[in-house]
Amino acid sequence: MTPETSSPCSCGSGDACQDETQKARRGFLGVAAAGLAGIMLAPGVRLIEVAQAAPNPAATPAGASAGASPKVRWGMLVDTSKCTPGCNACVTACQTENGLPTQPGPTDAQWIRKIEIKEIKTGKAHSLPVMCQHCAEPPCVDVCPTGASFKRADGIVLVDKHICIGCRYCVMACPYKARSFVHEPQTQQKPDVPRGMGTVEGCTLCVHKVDKGESPACVQACAAAGYGAIAFGDLNDPNSEISKRVAQYSTRQLREDLRLDPGVRYMGL
Ligand code: SF4
Ligand code: SF4
Repeated sequence: MTPETSSPCSCGSGDACQDETQKARRGFLGVAAAGLAGIMLAPGVRLIEVAQAAPNPAATPAGASAGASPKVRWGMLVDTSKCTPGCNACVTACQTENGLPTQPGPTDAQWIRKIEIKEIKTGKAHSLPVMCQHCAEPPCVDVCPTGASFKRADGIVLVDKHICIGCRYCVMACPYKARSFVHEPQTQQKPDVPRGMGTVEGCTLCVHKVDKGESPACVQACAAAGYGAIAFGDLNDPNSEISKRVAQYSTRQLREDLRLDPGVRYMGL
């Protein structure tokens, strides 16, 4: 929620008071919800590690910055002129990396989907992957009653499944249809990507890889397939490849009119 839309503070101490009230409310709800979410998780699976992911300078490649640092804003740039219709390499890589169904049914989670669009006026066709856009002003976070939906300091938007109660407010609030509800019991989960029936999930930007200094699986797969249509990096670093491209080329954010400032950018649209 922006300061402009916050309700007035009754004690006169302003935003700080509102923050404390919200934290206390979320803390209460979080404690109450933790048990509910916890019983649905696979035995031995802990979800707190991702939620508390901290900077890991030891794993950071030379010259780069990584982890939940406010100096960093992780983002992706999709070059739709390189993205190929019919190619699903990014989708498959996401499923494999995160332990998602490789043949998703209508109710299964899908963190990236490929869409094909055609401009009405020109007839020009585009193929592009759409995933969580890691908004700077994420409505999924604003509407979450427990604080489970949260944005890290480095811009990655995640769900803490310890305290997600599965209300699905965030699913309804997300204009990009980027969140999925987990309907089925989960088995054989990936240790780095815990999932839980009755909770909501979405693209994590492969935070478990990013915190080790690696790129998300979709970015790697697209490059390995020979397209190199997705760049990943720090949008706050003017010397990063992604920042140079954003500065050099005309890029767009999906639904710019909503002013959510997504961290995923597109060029060629
Ligand atoms: S794309 Fe949707 S789920 Fe992702 S940060 Fe934005 S509003 Fe939240
Ligand atoms: S379903 Fe979404 S809004 Fe509801 S508690 Fe979970 S993360 Fe928060």
